[in-house]
Amino acid sequence: MADSQNNWPTGMKRTKQRESVLFILEEAEKPLSALDICSKMDKSGDTAWLSTVYRILELFIKKGIVLKTNLMNSDMSVFELNRFKHKHYAVCMNCNKILTLENCPMERFIPKLEDEDFHVMGHNLEIFGFCKDCKAH
Ligand SMILES: [Zn+2]
Ligand SMILES: [Zn+2]
Repeated sequence: MADSQNNWPTGMKRTKQRESVLFILEEAEKPLSALDICSKMDKSGDTAWLSTVYRILELFIKKGIVLKTNLMNSDMSVFELNRFKHKHYAVCMNCNKILTLENCPMERFIPKLEDEDFHVMGHNLEIFGFCKDCKAH
């Protein structure tokens, strides 16, 4: 797991389960839910409780190596490695399929705020609808 070592925050204690969660996120091409991660760990033999996976993810978020996105009014949260790239997703309301947006509609958006010194660090965007397979006829 040479990759995991690059992403490992200094000072964070290594455990087999933490390494396993990070490895799964590194391999993932799409954001994963905690349940996805849990079942992937099961398959690789590093069984962990869902609550443990959540705790590890919360720790990774605090350390800045994992990003959390709430989908569909927070019914579902997905997690991905913080690759320091800007990304948005569209979610199918029927099958929960996640599609990656190729562009950001907010790119040229300059927020007008009462507080002129407010420093914008980012934004969240929720896009939902029906995918090709679930499109209502
Ligand atoms: Zn769908
Ligand atoms: Zn954006």
